[in-house]
Amino acid sequence: MQHFVIIGAGLTGAALAFRLSRAGARATVIEAAQPAAAATGASFGWINASFFHSPAHFNLRRAGIDAHHRLDLDLGQTGTVWSGCLWWQEAGAAFDAAAQTLLALDYRVQALSARQIASREPAVAAPDRCLFFPDEGAVDAARLTRHLLAASCATVWTGCPVIAIETAAGRATGVRTAQGSVAADQVILAAGTACPWLLAPLGLTLPMLRRPGLILRTRPVAARLNHIIAGPEQEVRQDRDGSLIAPLSAAHQADAAQEVTTLPGDLADAALCRLRGLLPGVEMAARQVSLAYRPVPGDSLPAIGPTGVAGLTLAVMHSGVTLAPLVAELVTAEVLHAAQSPLLAEFRPSRFAPL
Ligand SMILES: Cc1cc2nc3c(=O)[nH]c(=O)nc-3n(C[C@H](O)[C@H](O)[C@H](O)COP(=O)(O)OP(=O)(O)OC[C@H]3O[C@@H](n4cnc5c(N)ncnc54)[C@H](O)[C@@H]3O)c2cc1C
Repeated sequence: MQHFVIIGAGLTGAALAFRLSRAGARATVIEAAQPAAAATGASFGWINASFFHSPAHFNLRRAGIDAHHRLDLDLGQTGTVWSGCLWWQEAGAAFDAAAQTLLALDYRVQALSARQIASREPAVAAPDRCLFFPDEGAVDAARLTRHLLAASCATVWTGCPVIAIETAAGRATGVRTAQGSVAADQVILAAGTACPWLLAPLGLTLPMLRRPGLILRTRPVAARLNHIIAGPEQEVRQDRDGSLIAPLSAAHQADAAQEVTTLPGDLADAALCRLRGLLPGVEMAARQVSLAYRPVPGDSLPAIGPTGVAGLTLAVMHSGVTLAPLVAELVTAEVLHAAQSPLLAEFRPSRFAPL
């Protein structure tokens, strides 16, 4: 039985642990802090393909939605809610162009009038029109991560940073921690923003963008939201405990800010103000603000697959909540059976020479 060491217990590492152990491999997940300690724990959790950078990226994201449905069946109790999204982040010609682009890609899109929006979302100050993406959903990524790890047969080490990836004769042979070395047949690097730091001593360069993101969680509110809401100034969804979850930047998936120069509390107050405009009359108060750095490779696209070192696979991406279940399936097929998916052709780490 092959032994895989997976570095990082975010959603990517957890989904890999689940798929590898389901496929009969032995997996050890080594995590520097706790499961979902980094980007996964601060995610908005929106599963979608309406946001994308290229046709191949759209195809990957749409396949990512399908993989979540397979995970719903294989794992059960994922907590994923397929509510669909109401979207009006653009207006005028840009709104029409967004609808046309998605329809041309065969994505399910429905235009809703103000009256239709009001009947679906009575608590929302309805815009004149919006697009409804019925196939989109949301999940608590931290909860899903813990569930995947528990359901896998992997051994999970927490509070144990990997210091180095060990190699011999150009092949990964395991990892080194402060407590000692762990041998592996193959190593999978799913350490989010820490990936470049672990690759550099091997002579591998992975450029990453600096992309901080903040998420607000309110105390539970009385009103009920039935969809993911994506307005021009504010996105919001409701967790099953009734709390509202809202990114602190507008259209957060495209947010390119490199620094956070305002206190999180001030940003949360501004978001609460926007949320009160979106949900008039709904009483709300902040409960938690989380800051995390999104793992975004230099061209904003996922970097998944073989590195220049045999036996070392990389899996790093933004929109990892959308993509992790699919990436886990594809990487499992690749590392166990050398089965390469065309879905990954444009997302190979080798595009960043000398990776
Ligand atoms: C504010 C925000 C909103 C987001 N919203 C969405 C969204 O709506 N939809 C979506 O699809 N995506 C979203 N994302 C992106 C998504 O959350 C990430 O792409 C995804 O969580 C990445 O998961 P990961 O497991 O690859 O990385 P991470 O969650 O960052 O996990 C990496 C893990 O590796 C561990 N680690 C690091 N170094 C070491 C080491 N040396 N040894 C051992 N372990 C190590 C870390 O502690 C961490 O637990 C959002 C992200 C943020 C920050």
